[in-house]
Parts: sequence; C-alpha cells; structure tokens
Amino acid sequence: MGRFFKLLLFVVLVASVNLVSAQRIVLNEHQIQRKIIAEKLSGAIQIQTVSSVNDADYNKEGFLNLHLYLAEAFPLVQKKLRKEVINEYSLLYTWQGTKSALKPLLLSAHMDVVPVEEASGGEWQEKPYHGSIKDGYVWGRGTLDDKYRVIAILQAVERLLSEGYQPERTIYLAFGHDEEIGGENGAGKISEVLEKRNIKLEAVFDEGLAVVEDVIPGVKQQLALVGTAAKGTLNFKLTVKGEGGHSSAPPKDSPIEILSRAIIRLQENPFKSRMTTTTLETVEAMAEIMGGKQQFAVRHYWLFKGKILKMLAQDQATDALIRTKMTPTILQAGQKDNVMPRVASATFNVRILNGEDDKSVMRHIRKAISDDRVQVEMYGDYTPPSPVTVTNTWIYGALQNSIKDVFPKARVVPALFPGGTDAKHYTNLTTNIFRFAPQVVNREIAQLVHNVNERIAIDVFATCIQFYEVLIQNTCGVDPDTLLADTDLDDLFEPEDTEG
Ligand SMILES: [Zn+2]
Repeated sequence: MGRFFKLLLFVVLVASVNLVSAQRIVLNEHQIQRKIIAEKLSGAIQIQTVSSVNDADYNKEGFLNLHLYLAEAFPLVQKKLRKEVINEYSLLYTWQGTKSALKPLLLSAHMDVVPVEEASGGEWQEKPYHGSIKDGYVWGRGTLDDKYRVIAILQAVERLLSEGYQPERTIYLAFGHDEEIGGENGAGKISEVLEKRNIKLEAVFDEGLAVVEDVIPGVKQQLALVGTAAKGTLNFKLTVKGEGGHSSAPPKDSPIEILSRAIIRLQENPFKSRMTTTTLETVEAMAEIMGGKQQFAVRHYWLFKGKILKMLAQDQATDALIRTKMTPTILQAGQKDNVMPRVASATFNVRILNGEDDKSVMRHIRKAISDDRVQVEMYGDYTPPSPVTVTNTWIYGALQNSIKDVFPKARVVPALFPGGTDAKHYTNLTTNIFRFAPQVVNREIAQLVHNVNERIAIDVFATCIQFYEVLIQNTCGVDPDTLLADTDLDDLFEPEDTEG
C-alpha cells in the first residue's frame, strides 16, 4: 500500500509538474502574442494622422508613413490582398473570395484621429503619440478611436492567411483618412469607386456602439449594442445684428439679449419624443432583461406608450434615442467691456431622429424662436438620418453568433447610434449596415474617447482581433456552421458515408 501511495504521489507530482510547465508555455505564448499585437498597435499610434478641415494635406507625411508601416507590419496581407490607395490617403484592400456569386463584405475603419488639445498636454499620463505600452494598456490618441480597429482587422486577416484560410465571399477592408471631419474624401471616395464598379455589398461593419457594462441604470447584464440605425446631423447658426455703441446708453434689447432669449426658447421647445422601430427593439430587449413591471409595460406597449416615453426622457442617454436633439456649441459676441457688440451669434449642433429631415428641423427651430430679429441659417454639410437595418436576416444572425462566441455573457440588442461614422457613405451599396465596436465598455472607458489618456487594455484589444477572425469565418464561408443556412436541412439527417 505504501508503495502504491508513493507511486500515486509520484504520478500526481509528475502530472502536476507537467501541467505547470505546460501552463507556463501556454502562458508564455500568450504573453508573446500580447506583446506582438501591442507593439503593432503602438507602432500605428506613433504615426500622427490628424485630419483637419482647414488643410486636406495637414498630416500628409503621417498618412503615407502609416501606409508603409501597415505594409511592413502585415506582410501576408501585403502579399495576398490587392491594395489600392484611394484619393491619396485612404486604403482599400480586396481579399478575393472563391465564389463570385456571393456579394462582398466590407469592413470599415478609419486611420485618422482627432487632434490633441494643446491645453491638455500636461494631463496625459503617457504622451499621446508615444504609443507607450504600460500597465497592460497601449496608450495614446487613436487607441480607442479608431486605429485599434484598423490594426485588429488587419491582424485578424493576417492570422487567417497564416492558417491558409480562404474566404468564399470577397472581403473589402476600407480604411478612410478623414472620418473625424465627415469622411467625404476617404470613405466617400471609396464608396464611389465601388459604385462605379457596379458592386453591391452584402453588409458593412463599421465602428459604433459596443458591449456595454454598467452603463444603463437597472441593467446588470452585458449588452452588445449593435447600431442598426444612425441619427442624421446638421448645424445651424443664429445671428442677431444691432447698432453697437457705448454701453452707457443701451437700447431696450441688445443683440446679446435677443440672442439669449432665442437660445432659451429653443431649450424650452425640444423636439417631440417619438418611438422608432429601432428604439422599440432596444426597449423590448431591455424590458425582457429587467422583467417585472417594465416587461409588462413593454409587452402592452400601445397601452403604456406615453409612460414609456416619459421614462426614457428622464435620462439624457435614453432621451437621445426618442427625439431629435439640439445643443448650442459655439457662442460669439463682444470684445470689450464697455462696447455693445454689433453682432451676436450662436451655433447649434442637431442630431436628427429617423423620420425627420433638414426641412422639418429648420421649420421647428424658426417656429420656436418666432423672432424676426434673429436670423436662422443652416450651414455646412447635412447628413440625413440613416436607413434602418433590419434584423431578421442571416447576416444579422451571423453577427449575433460572432458576438456570442467572443462575448458569451452579452445579450445582442439592436440600437440607435447617436453619431455619424464612415458607414453613412456606404448606404448606396447595401441596406445591411452594422455599427459595432467589439469591446466591453463602461462609463469610464467611454469617456476616454477623443479625450486625454485615451488607452486600450491589451486583453480588450486581443478580443477585438478574435472577434474579426470569428466574424470573417462566420460570414464568409468555409466554417460548416455558417453553411447551415444554405443547406437543405434534410441533408443533415442522411447517414454519412463511412469509409470501407
Ligand atoms: Zn471614429
């Protein structure tokens, strides 16, 4: 017995030693992978690519250097995919599929970043363009918006290529260079090129909403919010002109006072709240998670419509889902303390809900102000609200499965995306547009976008890469699960051929 125990002990010891060393090797490989991907992202962060409204060539060198960098960092992509430079700075890669009958897929991301405010320089813990890798994070401008997705997509393709994967469906990788200033010269031109080639896409996957955790009050579960619609945007300006003069004998109404009253009137007359099909889908999913009263109310939506809208209006985040929102962003008047300004102006940014347009928005604004002394004019580009992507399609199902594979705790929920991305330029090529960033985001992380100390956890970044690998396999063939949709179900129950 003693001998047996000794033997047993020996076996257990050896086994556990093996286990430990095996684990260590796995861990090391894991560490090496983390290091490689972190360095790839860091390299891209170090190349400054700010897009500027005033100067189209602002970071010319940066964009060209980034092209060279990507070619070096992803040698298989460089070798096996067709690469086109569009409008000098944007990139379009084509990964040719084996089945030409399948409509291609487009993965969209942008290479440009927003500038670093000079005043914020001192607040950055790590310099914004150093690409520091520290405390498990890659730091710097573009780590959350949107260079990490450029690198994640390329890394996913590089890995699939290294494994000999060949898509059945053609895949485009479209990387714009001016998303932050509207995307007309980047994604806009890529879209034109594809349209000229008579290409229709199966779907576009772009940045957008994310997997949220602890963001929505009362919802503990992780929610993978997929943007299936996006709000439109426009800017308008209010201008009031006066006589000017010395401030010792002011008229009854000065330009600043008239303008102020107009601003208050807009605040007091918000756009009407309204339930869109997309938000109703979101609300239904949420109610199911919350259960109880909420679920009952949503199930009897037509009865409780008013109450539900009222509830959503209470939080600024959910209020944005049910109405067009406007807010003043620039205010200008006066230069000296004893001189009345001749002109006072205010600029507003508007986010337009589906079902409205520039005309209806401007009508509401003029009516709310109702003052001839206030000149109201739209300025700059107008982006209409996006078409709504339907969710009863195989491609949405494939996206849903991909999300569940990588974020098993998350529940996939369609939702309205309040901003605009490059996706808006592809609405002529497909009705299946999905705005989704494959990462878990809480309030703290969400605040880092366009802000100081922008950074991404390396583990989060690794998950993004994994997501795009899974998404490509789930949507572009070869993986047997995805073939199910095309297979006659009876085939599945026929006995398989056996050897011999
Ligand atoms: Zn972005």
